[in-house]
Formats: sequence, structure tokens, C-alpha cells
Amino acid sequence: MSHVLAAVAWPYANGPRHIGHVSGFGVPSDVFSRYMRMAGHDVLMVSGTDEHGTPIQVQADADGVTPRELADRYNRVIVEDLHGLGLSYDLFTRTTTRNHYAVVQELFEGLHRNGYIVARTTLGAISPSTGRTLPDRYIEGTCPICGYEGARGDQCDNCGNQLDPEQLINPRSRINGETPQFVETEHFFLDLPAFAEAIGGWLDQRENWRPNVLKFSRNLLDDLQPRAITRDLEWGVPIPLDGWRDRADKRIYVWFDAVIGYLSASIEWARRTGDPDAWRQWWSSDAQGKDALGYYFMGKDNIVFHSVIWPALLLGYSGAGDKAGEPGELGKLNLPTEVVSSEYLTMEGKKFSSSRRVVIYVRDFLERYDADALRYFIAAAGPESNDTDFTWAEFVRRNNDELVAGWGNLVNRSISMAAKNFGEIPAAGSFTPEDLAVLEVAKAGFDTVGELIAKHRQKAAIGEAMRVVAEANKYLSEQAPWKLKSEEEKARQGTVLHVALQVVSDANTLLTPFLPHSAQKVFELLGGEGVHAPMPRIEEVEDLDGGPGYPVLTGDYTVGARWESVPLVAGTSLSAPKPVFRKLDPSVIDEELARLGEGS
Ligand SMILES: [Zn+2]
Repeated sequence: MSHVLAAVAWPYANGPRHIGHVSGFGVPSDVFSRYMRMAGHDVLMVSGTDEHGTPIQVQADADGVTPRELADRYNRVIVEDLHGLGLSYDLFTRTTTRNHYAVVQELFEGLHRNGYIVARTTLGAISPSTGRTLPDRYIEGTCPICGYEGARGDQCDNCGNQLDPEQLINPRSRINGETPQFVETEHFFLDLPAFAEAIGGWLDQRENWRPNVLKFSRNLLDDLQPRAITRDLEWGVPIPLDGWRDRADKRIYVWFDAVIGYLSASIEWARRTGDPDAWRQWWSSDAQGKDALGYYFMGKDNIVFHSVIWPALLLGYSGAGDKAGEPGELGKLNLPTEVVSSEYLTMEGKKFSSSRRVVIYVRDFLERYDADALRYFIAAAGPESNDTDFTWAEFVRRNNDELVAGWGNLVNRSISMAAKNFGEIPAAGSFTPEDLAVLEVAKAGFDTVGELIAKHRQKAAIGEAMRVVAEANKYLSEQAPWKLKSEEEKARQGTVLHVALQVVSDANTLLTPFLPHSAQKVFELLGGEGVHAPMPRIEEVEDLDGGPGYPVLTGDYTVGARWESVPLVAGTSLSAPKPVFRKLDPSVIDEELARLGEGS
């Protein structure tokens, strides 16, 4: 059994999240974590909201609130959304905690001490009217390479070249249109080239990664440049060096602080359990040796941060880049075992866009539909290894044809028949080859489905689980227990229903990582008591170091079903079931399509 870190991408707290966001990292990481726990591993699933950076500062200005107030608002919205989806975080926190600041500064100091952070003078843009720094992406102008007029200060979307803002012809602020001023400013850079060899060697040893992720990561190593890790900005983590610490206008760059969140959240989790060193079992080779595994879940636009930059920070802090060095007080830190990146979800053929209202927010979705219906769609038809389109017609079809008519129908007809004819789980007599065959299909599912989830092939995994469901439906149709009415057929009817219910129970366990809410219901319909699929809870906590309080997601996931077939006990009483899933009226398709584009 291993210590398994599930490190889940940090949603940015500048607005509510839509289903494209949660399909890429949220649901897949929860399916994986739930399965690994059921299989007996010690899982630590952490994340939080990413709350620094210019977009939050800019939006807070526009809304007339402080960045902290804006982050507070959307942190809470996102916590509630993820709770509604049943995502089983051990800790979902945020980047504005004092604990996070301290861990970020500790990494910064360690990297600086080991020589991997260097100061450089660069040209920075400021807004003449406010005196504030204008970040690269808020500057627009004509591309000096291809002549495209809408190029941004960091890159040209037309020719794809990376740019510096001072290269733009006729540069202007995207906030108010004025011409920026360029002035000299000093910043710290992470010496990424010093890690090229170590990261290359590490990538060469990676096995089982999705090939596109590995190829993309290797290509990044060909052209590694030092990367700025501080910004002219007031909103962020202060730079922990003498002469910098108290400057209000210089902060650590948001990408540098956010990626450290995996570590700071693990440390916060440990501090909250009362064993402040407990996090080391998931992070430190010294403490735990080879059984600590780290899986990172994200959308493909974030691969670079997880397969190159985060490993560079971990190597540099541990003293393991070209310049060597000594580990800091947190010790040597493990590199990721696997970077699990998903592709993009689109909506009715278009990119999700809040401004154009091509969007459905998680909250709105959960007000109208069940969480498991969305979880099912994401697992069965999500962007696991290809860009994938969400359409309302396909969502309704999968819900009605697969969840309701396939799985829901099997649950409903087997339990209601047993309840009506026996009032309890009937005893089994001797088994026919057909009985044994369907029982075997269900048992074999534990190996096949489990292995597929462990390899991040969730689409195939849920397909295998639903194949068990289909076999069970076929078995019921062929055995037709409703026809076994006479006194001498009663025992056979009981055996058939016992077998069917046993397969329902097994299929329910196989589906539990994907459909935890309905799995709990099916478990109870079969007479089960207590927790089958543990759920997260929202807890209001104090900041551990005296900052303002905030809501976290956490839970006790040590309870619940194991990844195994549990023999049903004959005589357990059953009552007539309520439907587990809701059939959707096809009219919702037109209603939802009418909502798209509204208000634009
Ligand atoms: Zn261009």
C-alpha cells in the first residue's frame, strides 16, 4: 500500500467555475482518489483556490472591492460548487492563508540560497495615469513579426511568437487605451536552464504517461529560458529578502506561488490533524522511501507548470540542479510520479466563454441536474485524451439511455421484484452455469475497472463497469424471474433474484468512484447501513497563523466501501425502491440552448 498524493489543479478565484473547468481536473482526480482509497491506499487529495495575480487585482478594481474581498467571494462560490459535486478533498484551501505565504517564502529562500534565483534588470510598463504596473497581457499592439494588430504583450495569437511588450508597435493599455511608459525595473528570475539536464533525465524515466504530455514536456526543455518570478504588483506574496520584504510594489509572481500550493496545502492539512510532520509521508523520500506517489491533475494548458517548472522548484529547493546546494528545512522533496493532463471540453462546438455566455456554471448545473449525471457524462464522454464537445442533446441521451435505462432500471427492477415477492434478499439455491457466469463477470470487474482507473483510463473503466450492468440486464431478461410464479418455481426465482442483487451490489461498488451520491443510495436500497461513499463537508476554520478565517473542504474518507465484492446476506429486508436517477424530458435541450448566448 502506498501513500498517494492527488494534487489537483487550483481553480482561479476571479469568477464562478464552469463545467469545462471541473471536467478537466475536478471529477477525474476525485474518481482516482476514491478508487485508490477503496483499494487500500493512503490518499492525500489537496488543492485550493488560486487567488493572487493581476486578473484578480484588475477585476477587483473594476468591481470597486479589494482583491481580498473579490477572492473571498469566489473562494466561497468555488468551495460550494466542488462540495456539490462530491469531490473528496482532504483539504481544499486557498493561497491567501498565512501558512501558504510562509511555505512559498521558504521555497523562495531555499532556491535563492542554492543560487537558482537571480536578479535582473528588465523593462516594465507602467500606466501613466495610475502609476501602476501594466502586466504584459494587459498591453496590446501590432505584432512586429507578422503585423497582426491585436497582439498581446506576452505573445501574438496570430503567428504564435512569444513577445516582450516593448517590441509591440503602437502599444496601448487594454484597460484604458492609454500608451504605456517603459521604465527599468529589477526582478528575480528562476534559472530554469540549470534544471534542463535533471528534468530531462527524470522525464526519460517516466513510464505510462500519456504520450502527448511526455512529448510536449520534452520539447519544452529545448528552449528553457530564465523565467521571471516577481512582478510589479501590490497583490501577492511579499519577497522574503532584505531590502525587498517591505516593498509594497513588488510581489512574487502568481504562477510561482500557486504551484507551491500543493505543498503548502499538504502542510496545512498535517498541521490541522495535530501531527505537523504527517505531510512528509507523501512528499519526502527521506521519510517514506519509495512508496510515496504523486499524481497531478490539470488541463493541458497547465502542463508546463507541472512537468517542468514545479519539478525545477522541487529540484532547486532540494539542492539537485546544476548548481547543487543543500535542501532547506522541509527536506528533499519528491518529484511528481505522473502529470495527468486532460484535453479541452467545448460547449455546443464553441470554446467556453463567460463574456459570450457560451457557458454553464457548476452552480447553475447543479440547481437543475444531479451531480452524478454530470459526473457520469464527464467520465464516459469527457476530454480524457481528446478535445471533446459537451452538447445538451448528448447529455440528455446519456442520462436517459445509459444511466436511467441501463443502470437505474437494473437497480429498480431487481430490487422491486425481490421486495414484492420476498420482502427481503432471498436465499440462493444451487447455481446454474448462467448464474455463475454473470457473477463471475461482476467479480472480474474489480480487476479490470480498478486497473484502468489506476492508469487514468477512466473512460474505458466506466465502460467496463457499465458492461457488467448490461450483462446483468441481459441475465435478468433471459432468466425472466417474473415468470417463475408457481410454488415449485419459487426457489429458483429466489436464486435468480439473489444473483441479480449480488451483481447489482458489485456493479454499485465498481461505479462508486464515478457516482458516489447514487452509490450511497443503491447501497441503502440493498439494506446497507452507514457510509458507503464518504462525502466532503464544508468547514469554517480559523487561519492557523492568525489571518482571517475561511471555508475549507475536508472529510473523513477512512470509512466506506472497499474495492471488493461483498456477499449479500439473505434475509436482509428490502422495501420498494424509489428511482435513483431522474429521466430528463427532451424539452430541456431547447431550454438550455435558448439560455446560451443570453445577455450577449
Ligand atoms: Zn504575430
